[in-house]
Amino acid sequence: MQMKSERQQEVYKCFINGVWEVAENGAMFDVINPASGEVIARVTKAGSAEAKRASEAAAKAFYEWSRTPARERANLLWKLYEKIMENIDEIASIITLEAGKPLHQAKLEVLNGAEYVRWNAEEARRIYGKTVDASSPSKRLKINKEPVGPVAAITPWNFPFGMVTRKVSPAIAAGCTVVLKPAEETPLTAIKFFELAEECGFPNGVINLVMGDAPAIGDVWLNDKNIKMITFTGSTKVGKMLYEKAAKQMKRVSLELGGHAPAIVFDDCDLKATVQQISRGKLNNSGQTCICPNRIYVQESIADQFIEMYKQVLESATVGDGSKDGTDVGPLINLEGVNKADSHVKDAVKKGAKLLVGGKRLQTEDMKKGFFYAPTLLTNVNESMDITHMETFGPVTPILTFKNDDEVIERANATDYGLAAYIFTTNLTRSHRVAEELEFGMIGINDTVLSQVEGAFGGVNESGIGREGGPDSLEGFLEDKFISTVI
Ligand code: NAP
Repeated sequence: MQMKSERQQEVYKCFINGVWEVAENGAMFDVINPASGEVIARVTKAGSAEAKRASEAAAKAFYEWSRTPARERANLLWKLYEKIMENIDEIASIITLEAGKPLHQAKLEVLNGAEYVRWNAEEARRIYGKTVDASSPSKRLKINKEPVGPVAAITPWNFPFGMVTRKVSPAIAAGCTVVLKPAEETPLTAIKFFELAEECGFPNGVINLVMGDAPAIGDVWLNDKNIKMITFTGSTKVGKMLYEKAAKQMKRVSLELGGHAPAIVFDDCDLKATVQQISRGKLNNSGQTCICPNRIYVQESIADQFIEMYKQVLESATVGDGSKDGTDVGPLINLEGVNKADSHVKDAVKKGAKLLVGGKRLQTEDMKKGFFYAPTLLTNVNESMDITHMETFGPVTPILTFKNDDEVIERANATDYGLAAYIFTTNLTRSHRVAEELEFGMIGINDTVLSQVEGAFGGVNESGIGREGGPDSLEGFLEDKFISTVI
């Protein structure tokens, strides 16, 4: 793969006000391929100065962009959608190279991300205000929808393309301008997205990309009155800190944070389909997703059967470099990720869990420099173990058992998170009743694929505030303006 375009010669650069540039102080950071541990690129490490220039550019561009007709904004987004579709293979290989996920999963991420761009291009032309009948006959009342202002977006490494498209495309569709900081581990995918956007001809300053010192960049944007909104996807810990700081200027926030999804397997489920759904959800991106099933509650009467079938799936999964054909499970993002998964397994085993499959870092000749962890199955798990309340972010499946519906609902809800939960049953009444009792933003019934552009993605409680995608995808980037006229 050709790593550098003509725009990126010695070092990958930031994109500020329509210009690719390096940081004033010349600092750089390395991007590592998690499958090989090798440095694959050097990226300019921006700080406060670049963050400030980016937010000034976004503020300067906002007036014109917010008044650009919706049809023009939509046309540019359509062009971007088409560019993405023309470049699926290249974008996917960049994702695999820096994030490690198997190429077929990376392609799905690009397709899904492209769908967000297309959806928001369509939605740009569906921003409707309202007129309201006044109680006074001499008054005329209307409510306009206006873009909230320049938006700061901060994204994680686990979906380096999807998370960028989910934030940038609705913001610019709504008439906002954007400054974006992607995760340090995966800047190259965001850079490619911006290269494609540049080719589409977005006016200077409408979208700006700054990689580098996260706290310094974040602090500039949080303290800059030009920035009216922070949209963040990442850990609950960082999300809370940003929320607190954003409160000082009453900035709008959208926070997509961590999760700890329960998956409830009832004895009337379609067992084969259930095993397939849960294992796919668990192994997707090696378990490094916010919605991945984290606590598998299986009804006692079918537990042995479920475990045996699940074990077979894990034992037949091929772990390896995501760029190689046939790989089902790629590496974790870094050594810290491997150590975290391993510590959760060790803690569970120490407290009485049974290790049925995996349970160790993989260090064969072709994997020893990468960050691979074996798909792992733990049974006999209980709620005293770290794995049942902390995000593992690895390919580790803990199985708990339960007796009846009320008991499992209570246990499933016993978390500070509230992102996704799953139910597996063929009983329609039960599926409705349990879905209504679960305190989560998203419920999958016999379904672990929740990231769909038509849906409203997001959580409750400590999993965040706001939704991405769906019929209201632009709503978070719009402000109501009420206009009352005496005639
Ligand atoms: P993270 O450590 O919170 O980082 C996310 C982003 O925040 C990165 O760009 C990071 O920059 C930046 N950041 C870190 N400290 C910051 C600060 N002080 N000020 C401003 N920005 C700061 O999360 P992660 O490890 O990348 O991602 C995994 C987490 O994301 C998990 O908890 C997962 O559940 C969650 N997630 C949630 C969703 C959802 O939709 N709810 C989707 C995907 C992931 P650096 O990389 O440069 O440090």
